[in-house]
Amino acid sequence: MKVIVLGSGSAYGCPMIFNNWRNMTPNNPKNVRNRAAIYLEVKSKKFAVDCGPEFRLQVNQNNISDLDAVLITHSHYDHIASLPELARACTLLNHPIEIWCSGETQKDLKQEYPFLFNGEEQEGRGLHWRVCPDVGEFEVCGVMIKTFQVPHHRWRCSAFCCQNFAYVTDWEEIPEEGLKILHGVQTLLIECNNGLYPENNGHSDLEKVKKVAEVIEPEQVILTHLSARVDFEETSAALPHNFELAYDGMSFEI
Ligand SMILES: [Zn+2]
Ligand SMILES: [Zn+2]
Repeated sequence: MKVIVLGSGSAYGCPMIFNNWRNMTPNNPKNVRNRAAIYLEVKSKKFAVDCGPEFRLQVNQNNISDLDAVLITHSHYDHIASLPELARACTLLNHPIEIWCSGETQKDLKQEYPFLFNGEEQEGRGLHWRVCPDVGEFEVCGVMIKTFQVPHHRWRCSAFCCQNFAYVTDWEEIPEEGLKILHGVQTLLIECNNGLYPENNGHSDLEKVKKVAEVIEPEQVILTHLSARVDFEETSAALPHNFELAYDGMSFEI
């Protein structure tokens, strides 16, 4: 399985608008982060998880030329802004793209983008809407995916596991059932929005990630969805031996 981190940034990107670098050193390219999304290639199937505002640029920069399905974690802008653009992608690909999310997220998306759910138009646009369970296992284009939900502000966000890999974004807590599903996973790519500076904002920080990693016992922990408070050098220096920070374009095989 191949994973590409398309974006490792938090909701506002890094630097933020008006070139605001907050805590970060401006001359480090690893401090330049687009909104969080990943690309997965498994059994020759091509998936993305989330599609925020820079999705077109991320797909082009990483030379991705096809997509079979997109899994959506939750309905925040930084994870869904490019959904309307996927309708165009289907036309260019000449095949449909399956869009998977929880029932609750799909309800939000229907409000946000009613024109993407509009009968004939939806079929014409080639987005095939699918609902995944809140907790459990489901099959996407012949690939088994496990999922569970994490609390995030007033929302719930879906986490996804495929084979030995798990992606958990936008979380403030991982419930017991999630810890069980994640236990023993080889590579955990996980949101650490606040880095070394805990904040009560529906996100996590390094101490929170360390605590759950003690229970999950992954071989490798990669931190993503990083805000402009997370300077690459400063934070990397404080990480345990099996932890590292994600950066845009990072790719690995599992
Ligand atoms: Zn987010
Ligand atoms: Zn969010």
